[in-house]
Amino acid sequence: MSPAPDPRLPPDPRRPDWRWQLAHALDARALGLEEIPAWPTRVTPYYASLADWGDPADPIRLQVAPDPRERLDDGYPADPFGEDGPAAVAPGIKQRFPDRILAQVSLACAANCRHCTRRGLLGRARAAALPDLLAALDARPAVREVLLSGGDPLLLADDALLAWVDALAARPGIDAIRLCTRTPVTLPMRWGDALIARLAASKRLWVQTQFNHPRELTPEALGLCDRLVSHGIPVSNQSVLLRGVNDDPAVMAELCARLQRARVRPYYVFVCDPIAGISHFRTPPAHARALREYLLTHLGGLACPRVVADLPGAPHKADVL
Ligand code: SF4
Repeated sequence: MSPAPDPRLPPDPRRPDWRWQLAHALDARALGLEEIPAWPTRVTPYYASLADWGDPADPIRLQVAPDPRERLDDGYPADPFGEDGPAAVAPGIKQRFPDRILAQVSLACAANCRHCTRRGLLGRARAAALPDLLAALDARPAVREVLLSGGDPLLLADDALLAWVDALAARPGIDAIRLCTRTPVTLPMRWGDALIARLAASKRLWVQTQFNHPRELTPEALGLCDRLVSHGIPVSNQSVLLRGVNDDPAVMAELCARLQRARVRPYYVFVCDPIAGISHFRTPPAHARALREYLLTHLGGLACPRVVADLPGAPHKADVL
């Protein structure tokens, strides 16, 4: 059940108009919190309405509310994966693995997740340009998957997003276009029927999202997942393991089971990356292994995600077991 309406939120915070949601996004001051300028607070009224703002330990609030612990120098780097270094192909275009390439097509998000891997990079990043991506693909015939990422690609206008998808779908060597977006969680009203139909027509599109807690599975979010899957667009979920949010194995198992019921594949649980400013979200390695064991014994294979760590310099994700 959703918490009672909070006076800090605008009336009717779940209004089904995505442009209104973005125009009324809340910052720290609106929420009565102290801002952390290095990573400004931003949250849609819709997502904010899922939190209990009177409870500092609320799992939705924790994901979007600035936390004084972010200021501490925890010794972690801002860019452990070399996105601004060896992995950079062109502005906004990164390649870490031979068969995949990533384009940051938008630098904005509907909500700024406090645990974001790119939180230290987005402020100085440049968005990718389509000609640069096409040139990179010409020079890399081994690439068969393109990740449209950001920020969040669903913050582009429909025409701009479709220009990327159509250009990639026209290339015979591209087997999959992965749309990496958290809008099913933070802004589900973003997806109009016409846009979904056009994206589905590409026959190459996969939606990759990030539900982290069962309370995010609202009627709006579940309705969107149903519309995507019913149009033939596969949807997979990649949670981030976050202390205080979803590190209780029963909570994660409930999330995965409910995702399966929604025909969303619980694909990965990522160990929280070693990024500066978010070490308070990280759990000990033994906890991640225990979580994986718990999920294996409580969920069937289709509902059971792999629990993995993305290790700097490694050739693939590493299973915690
Ligand atoms: S939606 Fe993704 S890119 Fe945007 S802040 Fe959240 S984790 Fe980072």
